[in-house]
Amino acid sequence: MFSRVAVIGVGFMGGSFALACKEATGCEVFGVDINPLAINRAKELMVIEEGSTDIRDMKDFEPELVVLATPVRTFKGIGEALKELLPSSCLVSDLGSVKGHLVYMLEELLGNRFVGGHPIAGTEKAGVENAFKDLFKGKRFILTPTEKTDPEAKEKVRSLWKLIGSVVEEMDPYFHDFVFGAVSHLPHAVAFALMEAIERMSKDIDLFKYPGGGFKDFTRIAGSDPIMWRDIFLENSKNVLQAIDVFVKALMELRSLIEDSSEEKLTAYLSKASMRRREIG
Ligand code: NAD
Repeated sequence: MFSRVAVIGVGFMGGSFALACKEATGCEVFGVDINPLAINRAKELMVIEEGSTDIRDMKDFEPELVVLATPVRTFKGIGEALKELLPSSCLVSDLGSVKGHLVYMLEELLGNRFVGGHPIAGTEKAGVENAFKDLFKGKRFILTPTEKTDPEAKEKVRSLWKLIGSVVEEMDPYFHDFVFGAVSHLPHAVAFALMEAIERMSKDIDLFKYPGGGFKDFTRIAGSDPIMWRDIFLENSKNVLQAIDVFVKALMELRSLIEDSSEEKLTAYLSKASMRRREIG
């Protein structure tokens, strides 16, 4: 297993991964982050052993695995830097929420030692101070290999995540983006838009002073990091746009049922949704 691991982006996910990886394997972690405060905080919290704001400083650490944990639009620049820096024996993986074309782009830059991955675990909180080692325990980890991925590299990454305590599954990179475009990216888009809608209706009264439990539950994820979500929406735009269209259609149907005072049909619409929601637990 890996004894020296580098994490690029020592925020909430990168920090949690560093802690989980150290507990599972006893490895040492080198952190790279453009924000010097993140590096200092990560050292204070003993999330990383060493770190730098300059990716080139990672070279002397001689990592066996490098994991990208930055917002997904930074991946291209980081991939280009890693191509120049790393020996071909060093594996590279990521924690990004979008795979599809990003996986193929990183594979093009770094070769078949790149293994794409996405932990299905997280919160709306950002920053290393919120990182915790048990984040990934019992949660899914989606590996997104391509036909070119080195089988040995893939198995090493799979074994690491199993040791961390995740349930590892494989998915085609583009299919991954359809699935998570629907069940993760769409709900975040709707939560951000709901906040905007309530803001627009707050002309004569500050409606945010009256949040009920439902409003708080529903909009919790709208407190997520805007840069991270900007990058996800832009990098998975095709699936996100299609999902928004389906959602708007479903919402407009609900609107019609209310407008038409269609008691029976409205009950059927709500019952189907309510039953489905209770089924997933
Ligand atoms: P975060 O904001 O907590 O951390 C990101 C860190 O990356 C920050 O410390 C930032 O300074 C650093 N950074 C930004 N650009 C950089 C660059 N060019 N080079 C080096 N460092 C850079 O965000 P997070 O929640 O940890 O998300 C990180 C990644 O994990 C994203 O790709 C996101 O899609 C993915 N992800 C997040 C969640 C979640 O719930 N938060 C879940 C699954 C996957």
